[in-house]
Amino acid sequence: MIAPVGNIPVTSPGQRFGAPRDGGSRPHKGRDYSVRVGTPVQAADSGTATEGYSGGMGKYVTITHGSGCKTVYGHLSQIIKLGRVNAGDVIALSGNTGKNYKGEGYSAHLHFEIWADGQAQDPDTYMYGSSQVQGDDLTSLLSDPELQRAIQALSQTLYS
Ligand SMILES: [Zn+2]
Repeated sequence: MIAPVGNIPVTSPGQRFGAPRDGGSRPHKGRDYSVRVGTPVQAADSGTATEGYSGGMGKYVTITHGSGCKTVYGHLSQIIKLGRVNAGDVIALSGNTGKNYKGEGYSAHLHFEIWADGQAQDPDTYMYGSSQVQGDDLTSLLSDPELQRAIQALSQTLYS
């Protein structure tokens, strides 16, 4: 999988997975990326994209990837591509539809979820391994071929 918004670092500010939402007790099921309205949102992996709307997530896209895995992209302003999509395809533009936690300093952002086996996964861990590791741990982590591919895909987006 690749980052849904490749033009910002994955460590950018935004509500992380598992954080309590808006003073409530329900944990945050995804990862928020702070991006301006109109930022291109890319499919994290190939699959079948469908659109939906909810009061919380506003306009959103779900991509089913097979093997019980799906990704969700919320608070969108505009849908670009549905149906069969490839990894990296621009599927939508980010926005601020739905409930956006303005009281906590959040405004426009992309809400991104990864589901596997019926459970919401932490995108940071699922896509990149732990984002907290440093030094020797980081060196060994970086030798992981899957992570190298993810980083390569990300840097291609960053520097192309
Ligand atoms: Zn969110």
